[in-house]
Amino acid sequence: MFIISSKTMLKKAQREGYAVPAFNIHNLETLQVVVETAAELRSPLIVSGTPGTFSYAGTGNIVAIAGELAKEWHHPLAIHLDHHESATDIEARVACGIRSVMIDGSHLTLTDNIALVRRVVEYCQRYDVSVEAELGRLGGQEDDLIVDGKDALYTNPEQARTFVEKTGIDSLAVAIGTAHGLYTAEPKLDFERLAEIRQCVDIPLVLHGASGLSTHDIQRAISLGICKVNVATELKIAFSDALKHYFNAHTEANDPRHYMMPAKAAMKEVVRKVIADCGCEGKM
Ligand SMILES: [Zn+2]
Repeated sequence: MFIISSKTMLKKAQREGYAVPAFNIHNLETLQVVVETAAELRSPLIVSGTPGTFSYAGTGNIVAIAGELAKEWHHPLAIHLDHHESATDIEARVACGIRSVMIDGSHLTLTDNIALVRRVVEYCQRYDVSVEAELGRLGGQEDDLIVDGKDALYTNPEQARTFVEKTGIDSLAVAIGTAHGLYTAEPKLDFERLAEIRQCVDIPLVLHGASGLSTHDIQRAISLGICKVNVATELKIAFSDALKHYFNAHTEANDPRHYMMPAKAAMKEVVRKVIADCGCEGKM
């Protein structure tokens, strides 16, 4: 009962004009920081992981730890499957207790993407699991998912209307100029396209690749219909930079209970900033 679907939280965000942050976690420490900080700020929370993360940490371990933290903090949260491309993987992870998924068929033709997403939606509806899918294709790199800039495709608003109608998804990830990973040049978001998509589609919209975006861009995107903001790279950088800094200053350090503390503090600052940018403090 502490692991919930993201459907209700995204609908509430859409009605009230803010976004729910989805943080990609990798280990115990990232889970502790995102749950603790979201609970302190009474922010809705989606804890997210790529297929690589669930394989690395173990799906059962993530569900158990996130569930215990949610209970400890009296803070229900969604655990979300980010960029899963296999319906079979999704079904196995739903069986482990996950109630929020993304099926990413954005590399397929429109017809094949619709067929794959429809299959996942039909399965997930039986378990009250929310489903996100992507139309268009984000550039950049997230784990094993690497999309060259020339293969990135912006979301077509009219296609988005058809896609949502035919699949029955709960939320739509849009490609409007963001990319995964670090930006090498300042990103230029296509806000007119986002406004057109909003005209064609009435479900919550999702922004991937938010690490490195300005507060202004994030808030403008939220004002145009974005209800979920994904953050992965910014957390990883805060975590690893703080660790490097600590080990440089304490070359003899060997106790994770000590060297993890500055890494957790650095991540906490990122989580606080994202929650402020999303306007979701006190919305839980
Ligand atoms: Zn993504």
